[in-house]
Amino acid sequence: MGKTPGKTEKLKKIKKEIVELTDSPLYEYRSGNDYFPVIGEGSHNADLMVVGEAPGKNEALTGRPFCGRAGKVLDEMFQKAGMKREEAYVTNIVKDRPPENRDPTPEEINLYGPFLDRQIKIIEPVVIATLGRFSANYMLEKFSFGENFSISKIHGKIYKKEDMNFKIIPIFHPAASIYSPERKTDLIEDFKKVKKELRTG
Ligand code: URA
Repeated sequence: MGKTPGKTEKLKKIKKEIVELTDSPLYEYRSGNDYFPVIGEGSHNADLMVVGEAPGKNEALTGRPFCGRAGKVLDEMFQKAGMKREEAYVTNIVKDRPPENRDPTPEEINLYGPFLDRQIKIIEPVVIATLGRFSANYMLEKFSFGENFSISKIHGKIYKKEDMNFKIIPIFHPAASIYSPERKTDLIEDFKKVKKELRTG
């Protein structure tokens, strides 16, 4: 409602630029393995944007974000919070799979971050839920809340400033619950907060 037209064209342009990003340190790994870049998926008019870290193997094989094990947890979070995943827009900071799922490097984050910034401007979300420490720190540093945050200290908090037209809510990465099942409760509770903030605007 009340969002800017022409979003699909702008998002397509971003996709084309990422597909042709031969300068990326991850490009050779992508093409050598017949992987796809993972641009993002969901409603272009979403009030909620979910921002993960980088694609894993399943995501790189399909071109779809969060379609593997962590994605199953994300699906459960949406379901338990009473939200529909298809109404949100789900993406990552880094759009290509890092080898063997290693952490993204600062260089990769700097290269792909501006694409995320453009996606945010196009989608015009009300809430950005960041999954894990990389996307939390990227967003919180960008909006000058500080740096090197520990996700266990900040998860579930709401970050908003006058000059921002969305709220940032950092949450744990869903993969954290695969190794520490108790994290699942935090994830679901935090996702319920996300839903509440969407309602209150
Ligand atoms: N982990 C992420 O951060 N993003 C994905 O798309 C999949 C797993």
